[in-house]
Amino acid sequence: MFFSRLSACFLSFVLALGGFFGWKPVQPPIVSPPEEVETMEITSDYVIVKSASARDAELTAVNTLKDILFQMSGITFEVVDDTSTPYTAREIIVGATNREGYHDSSVYILDRPALGAEGVFIKTVGETVVITGGAPRGTLYAVYTFLEDYLGCRWFSKDLTVIPEVDSLEIPREIDYFHVPVLEFRETDWISPRDVTWSVANKMNGLVYRYLDSSVGGGVGYAGGSFAHTLEWLVPKSYFETDPEMFALGVKSGKRTVSQPCLTNEKTLAVAIENVRAWLDSSPDRQIISVTQNDNTDYCVCANCRAIDAAEGSQAGTMLRFINAIADELKKYPQYDHVAVDTFAYQYTRKPPKITVPRDNVIVRLCSIECCFSHPLNDPCCERNVAFANDLYTWKKICNRLYVWDYTTNYANFLGPFPNFGVIQPNMKFFMENNVVGIYEEGNYQAAESDGEFADLRAYLLAKLLWDCDIDLDRCMKEFCEAYYGEAAEYILEYIYMTTAKTGQKSIFGQRQHMGIFEYIGNACVMKLSIFDIFHTDGLWENAKNADLTEEQLTRVLKSEISWRYWKATNKVREFGLLTRYESSQQLYSDIKALGITRIHEGAGGLMADKVYFMDPPGRWSTSRVPAIILF
Ligand SMILES: [Zn+2]
Ligand SMILES: [Zn+2]
Repeated sequence: MFFSRLSACFLSFVLALGGFFGWKPVQPPIVSPPEEVETMEITSDYVIVKSASARDAELTAVNTLKDILFQMSGITFEVVDDTSTPYTAREIIVGATNREGYHDSSVYILDRPALGAEGVFIKTVGETVVITGGAPRGTLYAVYTFLEDYLGCRWFSKDLTVIPEVDSLEIPREIDYFHVPVLEFRETDWISPRDVTWSVANKMNGLVYRYLDSSVGGGVGYAGGSFAHTLEWLVPKSYFETDPEMFALGVKSGKRTVSQPCLTNEKTLAVAIENVRAWLDSSPDRQIISVTQNDNTDYCVCANCRAIDAAEGSQAGTMLRFINAIADELKKYPQYDHVAVDTFAYQYTRKPPKITVPRDNVIVRLCSIECCFSHPLNDPCCERNVAFANDLYTWKKICNRLYVWDYTTNYANFLGPFPNFGVIQPNMKFFMENNVVGIYEEGNYQAAESDGEFADLRAYLLAKLLWDCDIDLDRCMKEFCEAYYGEAAEYILEYIYMTTAKTGQKSIFGQRQHMGIFEYIGNACVMKLSIFDIFHTDGLWENAKNADLTEEQLTRVLKSEISWRYWKATNKVREFGLLTRYESSQQLYSDIKALGITRIHEGAGGLMADKVYFMDPPGRWSTSRVPAIILF
């Protein structure tokens, strides 16, 4: 007790000293309350009108609306068919019904083709409410948008849904909302995005991390069970013994190797086509086949490959010619009319070729693995990102279906801070303003084992941005934190904005520092904090833990605090200073375990070791990094 009083006293002293030197904490932006608008009430005499022929996702939309409105108000709204019920003003029209169109009795008109598969249209016409969208998913998305934007419901995480209970269902009197997403493919991983209800509510349409059946409008998926590094399977290494020339004369290994195929070999192409067709035939509902390089840089430098790559100025030359040949082959068969061949612009193929242009049934997925995430991707002062942006500018000129594989966590330290909250919206806008039509925001795909760094918040914000990059992100973050952390929200919001302000700062020599996705947490690019910042941040977490919280909220605060303790432990500050480092690390280790966290970083060796050396930073507590002498 005496120590903690002394510590609190010292903390006040340091902060007072900070004040003397002009130090100021980073404050979250002020989020103004929503504007007051004239409302109208949805009373119990309203009916929900659906098409008599409504099926699948449109029917799910009707049932979801009915169910949530009941949960909110206790009112059971009657559902009627459009053809058997004459129009009355007090209707909630859901989906495409006979109330719509260019005829004498139409209630509203709508440019339906402009909605595409997923566009959302919500409108009030007098007392009538119209909630509709494109087929197959738009009407279901429209219902969720209506419930979120006009009635305050939220699907924050798979375990945290907010459905307000109200005395009356008040909605704005004037609604006229039309939104068609820029992205045809929206995907992320984390934890909640594996849950179907959360994914549908937050309009995640990829099929990589969840299966979406026709009852929720299906989705956009890759054939054959994989969407990355597929050449390993499409050109199996079992051919190596009989046909070694099908494989790369590796630029690194200097000999024939199974690490990559040789893309100018005719048999390689024939085998790949055969397997591409087999994958597509086994999953006829999928729209994309991934033909993507293996995850290494040992590409082929045989005479044929080298000549093409020299002429094209990039290894993307041989890759794209190979991909185009597969795409041409698929065009011969009508059953593949809906299919696109997807390939990477990744590492050695990131630079666009000078000559070859992708066919119209080819998707190029540009990967930002080398980039800096302290600074936006279009920041002209971040040299790492300038090179990437220039590649994107060239790809967008030659590719009509440009996708992006982007990264949103630290793969070498899942539990450490990754202060990228300031770049996720600028990056999303940058993509969408530059012809990108599909995005996979790769996050911590193993977050279920290492949920120590805002997994739920990140998934929620990314999903919202993938749907509409112009959202009010500060408001979104505030709403989430208030629901998720309760009274601790203000302190955690301040922590997040502080980390964002302190990342990618200049070094003492005046050079800007850049944060990659495998960064050591001790590097100053991650966060450069003064002694005042450190003391103040400790105070934020103390306040957060001492706030009036439910047990669930306290657990969330403790999990989120791990990232800050991980940073302090790596940087050997505060309780992790030399004299108390051992005991503090022991405590951190056991707290991590007690919270059910079992993983430090990605990969087979990323699990937490049973025995660790507590004077080591926590990044070394995985089975692959712990010194052998401790393991045995
Ligand atoms: Zn070759
Ligand atoms: Zn940078």
